[in-house]
Amino acid sequence: MLRFAERTRGVKRSAIRELLKYTEQPDVISFAGGLPDPATFPVEFLAKVAAEEILHNSMKSLQYTTTEGKRPLREALSRWLAEEGIAATMEEIVITNGSQQGLDLLGRVFLDPGDAVFVSLPTYLGALQAFRPYHPTLVGIPLEEDGMDLEFLRRAIREARRVGYTPKLIYVIPDFQNPTGTTWSEEKRRELLRIAGEEDLLIVEDIPYRWLRYRGDPIPTVAALDKEKRVIVLLTFSKILAAGLRVGALVGPQEVVNAVVTMKQGADLCGPSLTQRLVVRFLSDYDVRGHIARLCQHYKVKLEAMLAALARHMPEEAKWTRPEGGLFVWAELPQAVDTTKMLERALARKVAYVPGQPFFADGSGQNTMRLSFALASADEIEKGIQRLGHVVKEELAALSPAQRR
Ligand code: PMP
Repeated sequence: MLRFAERTRGVKRSAIRELLKYTEQPDVISFAGGLPDPATFPVEFLAKVAAEEILHNSMKSLQYTTTEGKRPLREALSRWLAEEGIAATMEEIVITNGSQQGLDLLGRVFLDPGDAVFVSLPTYLGALQAFRPYHPTLVGIPLEEDGMDLEFLRRAIREARRVGYTPKLIYVIPDFQNPTGTTWSEEKRRELLRIAGEEDLLIVEDIPYRWLRYRGDPIPTVAALDKEKRVIVLLTFSKILAAGLRVGALVGPQEVVNAVVTMKQGADLCGPSLTQRLVVRFLSDYDVRGHIARLCQHYKVKLEAMLAALARHMPEEAKWTRPEGGLFVWAELPQAVDTTKMLERALARKVAYVPGQPFFADGSGQNTMRLSFALASADEIEKGIQRLGHVVKEELAALSPAQRR
């Protein structure tokens, strides 16, 4: 008899994962993945510097490193963040195994049962998975076109306090959010800081897609607008260099970084030295700006193909976001449609997406779906959305006229 801990018993495996296995069949056009396009990885450069690092710098690339992460990497990140208007010294940065580890470590450092974490509806599923083992109450806040409904947030924080929870963190992805592609306005970013200040809460600002902007002007990060050191930033090289390197960083007040480093010692002693060295070399020897410009051009074509195909093939009852960057478009169908059930019909038509429900902390959103345009070619996107349009139309045809609205 296995006696799993409470936290293990509480964690559910997603039924969707099972269905998504079928998306790997070669004739299925999949919008389901959350992955960046491997065609964007600078393979030759990485191969060359990996060989150099292993052959000529093995003390630094093959030995353990410090728990905080390699000094030249933290120095380079400090400069990189300064360009974003974020002032962070090397001591305020810890290198993590992707930003996913940052989420887990924040859970360990901050969350006790009975604490409240405020997240948008929907939010990044991996954040919910990272926080849940620590048994916080995850409070969902509706997401509007320009960011969270902040009046709702204000009331929810007070209500959480009133019923005896301890509000701790507000988790946000202000640039091209996963899963909706939504970007917060500057006004909402400033208002979020005001609320966090009034309520004495920390903000976790997750920015994996920050550099993938295809249209419009960048909006300052919440961290850049912050004057009170209330923001913990999570960043990653997964989307702008290569996801398998597993290099990200957590940036925040020194006391937070110290606590995170202590927890990280217990988790893994240190991150991989080799891949941290590869990122150091990427930042020092590669044309990073040129690389990001090429990435943006690459994904822009795909995003435009998807938006055009949706306009052509979706019935008028469907609504979707029009992101200015990132990797995802989010679609909403009438309330009566269950996109988890619909997935089987879609797979039979050889097209796949991710049903939206798991991204909702409150279990709502059964009529939503996430569409990634990262992996398919523009032609496949057109064909795949055409197939999906058929599936949705069939689904709607089975509903009564009242349900179709
Ligand atoms: N945060 C968000 C919002 C994400 O979309 C992802 C990856 N899909 C992550 C964090 C984790 O990415 P990684 O661990 O590769 O940095």
